[in-house]
Amino acid sequence: MDEVVRYTFRLRPGATAEAALLADWGWCRWLWNEAVHQCRTGRRPTFGKLSKLLTEARARSSWLRDGSQVAQQQTLRTYALALQHSFRVKGRGRPRVKRLKDALPSLEYTTRGFSIRERRLRLPGGVSIPVVWSRELPSDPTSVRVYQDCLGHWYASFVVRRDTAPAPDVEGAIGVDWGVTTTATTTDPAYDLPYLGHRKRCAAELAKLQRRMARRRRVKGAPPSSGYLRAKRQAAKVAKKAARQNIHDARVWAKKVVDDHATIAVEDFKPKFLARSRMARKAADAAIGAAKRELVDRGLRAGRRVVLVPPAFTTMTCSQCGTRAKDRLGLGVRVFRCDTCGYTAGRDRNAAGTILATAERGRAGADDVRHAITSFREVGEVRSEPEIPRLPAVGKR
Ligand SMILES: [Zn+2]
Repeated sequence: MDEVVRYTFRLRPGATAEAALLADWGWCRWLWNEAVHQCRTGRRPTFGKLSKLLTEARARSSWLRDGSQVAQQQTLRTYALALQHSFRVKGRGRPRVKRLKDALPSLEYTTRGFSIRERRLRLPGGVSIPVVWSRELPSDPTSVRVYQDCLGHWYASFVVRRDTAPAPDVEGAIGVDWGVTTTATTTDPAYDLPYLGHRKRCAAELAKLQRRMARRRRVKGAPPSSGYLRAKRQAAKVAKKAARQNIHDARVWAKKVVDDHATIAVEDFKPKFLARSRMARKAADAAIGAAKRELVDRGLRAGRRVVLVPPAFTTMTCSQCGTRAKDRLGLGVRVFRCDTCGYTAGRDRNAAGTILATAERGRAGADDVRHAITSFREVGEVRSEPEIPRLPAVGKR
């Protein structure tokens, strides 16, 4: 079995190369914004139309001709795809204008535009950049995205094909409930993901840097001092480090869960809901969104049955007999007790059980419906694999 994935490496461009990258980004940004304006005036630009316009524009203007044609074309391709997704994928907005002050540089090159020679990345216009090869590429890359993050670091993300051993055949099913005290509570306590609080641990350091930023902030309109920018960068670095630790933990955990289970029922957690609550800060720290994304992606790639279960009523429904309690459990109540069958379990453990039971019921055929528990039917629609919006072919790594 082979799959298409991204391998990302750090780049160390010199001053000349960086200037060339930023110049290329300038042209691409301008083109993207042109396409956005085209769309706003009522024309719905397809990649074909945009591509033709680009060819004409490049013939007319020597200014555009100075930039890499491959990068410019890829920008329009990305734009057309983003526009298409905004119509088809639920919750995806229209592509927006990329502003100079907050859009981060991102350039795409196909094999016509880049090559790897002498372990360096060669881009159009004689740009050559050393790559930190932290691991070997499994095959020749078909395209590369060169981008800069909020810390100013440059990365190259190569699209490659790699052979993978098929995921081991396992039985087993697991239900996952997201929470704040324990990031993920599952039906099997051995697979819980505890709250590790990476952001909390560096909160004092972050607060110190933010105070420094506040001291060095100049009046509105004046250009920021270099000391302010330095503090801002350090604060961003601390925040980024915590985010990376969260992602790493989520990956290790998701791998363990996916390796050992054929069916994975996941609470369809909406981050916006918690973000509005009193627990917003802790919820952001637990990085539930990142863990969920990692689990769903990994499960789908391994060919597991992944089911997203809406969270409504999961905490107040008994996972053993399916009876729904009359009253909502208060947030302080940590133990669930069923009035009908007397089943007692931790609040989140019971919710995980209900999520799993709901997913199992989703698999039952029409004939099995009479065996299904009535309350589970009311829990809501079960969203199954095909509806999970995914970009085609490329799994983001
Ligand atoms: Zn019960």
